[in-house]
Amino acid sequence: MSTDGRSFKKTTAAALICAVVVFFILSRLLPEKKAEEAQGDYFCLGTVVHLSVYGQGRDFLREELAGLEAEGKRLEELFSANIPDSDIRRASDGRGKWVKVSGETFSLTERAMELSEDTGGAFEPALGRITKLWKIGSDGARVPEEDEIRAALRCCGRRNIALKEEDGAYYIKVTGGALIDLGGIAKGRVADIMMKKLADDGVKSALIDLGGNLAVLGERPGGGKWRLGIQTPERPRGEYFGTVSVSDCSVVTSGAYERYLEKDGVCYHHIFDPATGRPADSDLASVTVIDRDSTRADALSTALFVMGREGAAGYLKEHKDIAAVFLLKGQKRVLVTEAARSVFTLYDKSFSAEDIRGAEE
Ligand code: AMP
Ligand code: MG
Repeated sequence: MSTDGRSFKKTTAAALICAVVVFFILSRLLPEKKAEEAQGDYFCLGTVVHLSVYGQGRDFLREELAGLEAEGKRLEELFSANIPDSDIRRASDGRGKWVKVSGETFSLTERAMELSEDTGGAFEPALGRITKLWKIGSDGARVPEEDEIRAALRCCGRRNIALKEEDGAYYIKVTGGALIDLGGIAKGRVADIMMKKLADDGVKSALIDLGGNLAVLGERPGGGKWRLGIQTPERPRGEYFGTVSVSDCSVVTSGAYERYLEKDGVCYHHIFDPATGRPADSDLASVTVIDRDSTRADALSTALFVMGREGAAGYLKEHKDIAAVFLLKGQKRVLVTEAARSVFTLYDKSFSAEDIRGAEE
C-alpha cells in the first residue's frame, strides 16, 4: 500500500474516533427528552390492574399497554380457578387423568409445588376444595360446617398433584378429588411475565400494580428509585404505614384485610391455614415481601402470613436472603428482616419498627 493510502486510512480512523467522542459528550450534555407516560386500568385476575409505562413515543407506549392487557388476560385464562375452561380447571376435572396444559401453567404449578415444599406446606397449591367451600371474596361466601371443612381438607394437599413432560408436551394429573388454586401465586407470575415483556420490548421504566402485587421496571421516569407504599390495614386505600425504595423489583403484600366475610361480628378472611381449612389464625395483620422474583414474593407473602410471627421467624432463620416487612395484628408494630432494612422506611410515625430478630428475643 502507498504512504498516501495509509495516511488516508489513519485520518479517517481519527475522524471517526473524534465523531464518536463528540457524540458521546453531546449526548451527556444535552438535556434528555422527558419521558412520556401511558396509563391503563382494567379488571383481571379478580382485581383492578393498574399499569404505567414510561418512554418515548405515545403510540409505542399505548401499544405496550394494549400488549400487556392482552397478555394478562391470556394468562388469566390459563391460571384461573374461576374460568371453566382454564388449564387449571381442566386439570382439576375430577377424572384423575393426565391433562395436557400449556408450558406456562406447567411451569407455574411446578414452582408452586417447590414453594409449597419450601414453606412446609404453608403455601398449598391444592387447596381449591377449601377456597371453593368458603368462597371468601366472591358471591356465595359463607361459613361452612365443621364436617364440610373436614371432608374438603381430605381432598387437599400437593401429594395429589403430579407433573410430567413428554415429547415436548406438558401434563398435570390431579387425583384424590383435589382442586388446584393458584390464586396465591398467579399474580406474581403474571407480573414477572409482564416485566420481561416490557424489558424485551425496550421499555426502561414501568410500574405494574396487580392489586397488592407491585412490580417496577428500572428506575422512576425522572431517575432514582421508586418509592412504593405499604398499605395500612383497615384504612382507606393509599394510606401507608411504610414505604419501600427499590428499582427492578417486586413488592407483594398479603393481608387479612384484603378480602373477607363478616358474620356475627367475626371476620373470616381469604388466606387459609392448610392444616385447619379455616382462615389462618395469624398474629400478623400483613406481610410484605420484597424480591426481584415476583412469583416467589407472592407465594411467600401468603405462606409467611399463614405461619404467623413465630413460624415466619423460624423460616427466616433458614432463609436470610428474604426481604420482608411484617405488621403485627392489632398493634402498630412493624418487624423488618435484615435484608429489608436498607429499603424500608417507616412513614407513619405512630408506628414503630424493629428488627425481627430483636423482637424474637
Ligand atoms: P394472596 O392474596 O396472594 O395472599 O393469596 C390469597 C389467595 O391464595 C386466596 O384467595 C386463595 O385463592 C389462595 N390461598 C389461600 N390460602 C392459601 C394458602 N395457604 N396457600 C396457597 N394459596 C392460598
Ligand atoms: Mg400471594
